[in-house]
Amino acid sequence: MTTLLYTHPACLEHDPGSHHPESATRLRAVLETLGDLAFARLERREAPEAAIDDLARVHPRRHVERILRAVPKSGYVGIDADTIMSPGSGEAALRAAGAVVAAVDSVITQEADNAFCAVRPPGHHAEPERAMGFCLFNNIAVGALHAREAHGLDRVAVIDFDVHHGNGTQATFETDDRLFYASTHQYPFYPGTGAASETGVGNIVNVPLRPMSGSMQFRAEVGRRILPALDDFRPQLVMISAGFDGHRRDPLAQLMLDEGDYVWITEQLLEIAYRHARGRLVSTLEGGYDLDALSASVAAHVRVLMSV
Ligand SMILES: [Zn+2]
Repeated sequence: MTTLLYTHPACLEHDPGSHHPESATRLRAVLETLGDLAFARLERREAPEAAIDDLARVHPRRHVERILRAVPKSGYVGIDADTIMSPGSGEAALRAAGAVVAAVDSVITQEADNAFCAVRPPGHHAEPERAMGFCLFNNIAVGALHAREAHGLDRVAVIDFDVHHGNGTQATFETDDRLFYASTHQYPFYPGTGAASETGVGNIVNVPLRPMSGSMQFRAEVGRRILPALDDFRPQLVMISAGFDGHRRDPLAQLMLDEGDYVWITEQLLEIAYRHARGRLVSTLEGGYDLDALSASVAAHVRVLMSV
């Protein structure tokens, strides 16, 4: 039983500015923790760059080219108030999406049971034609469409437990009933989408949670709304947008979750992956802005992936 870890040093070179919460120190903290002896069995892989053809399954080619052309030679370029590029951003974004594509390949060809992508920039806010919310390309959506189109899978599911709603993933999936997207998120909150009434073509499950919801309500709602719908969908691949900014110590949000909740949901999703998808599961890092909470939560999440 093998768990792969995809990452790349280039992901540390994306610099949205010295006061930005989505900093390279996040990924450094995660990699330091996963460098611990307890994770010696993780098989480490260098994330390749995504091909433009991979990205173009989600983002129109001219949009991809526009983003890559806008990467500055020096200094910073702002796409919006929160989404800033530095000279290292282009390669980082290509490696972040490429990690998920490569992880999908490895898991589908049964080289490994599951995989975690420790990458940045994150992806779930990136809409087909709009980079936003710290995200340039939608890494997980690119991976999901690759699984379907390059490997011929019929049903791919993404579960997103980042504290923010993955508007970009929803926008990519909402008209396609062979894709499934479920999200828990603080609501009302950035980016404003994610109401329970947004159901796509019956393939979107949004679980908005009030600030201060906490563990009990999170688990109850996931158990009542997401897991049964996911079971009905019978995914052939389970993918996770693993954001850890729902943690009680996170400075950006107030959902009051802890490592135990991330262990719990990872176990539930792994169980569904074994029931329907031969265990195939690919997880990728999204948010999480308290360094200690982030590294402890990633460690808890990856430990469950390795425990199968
Ligand atoms: Zn987030």
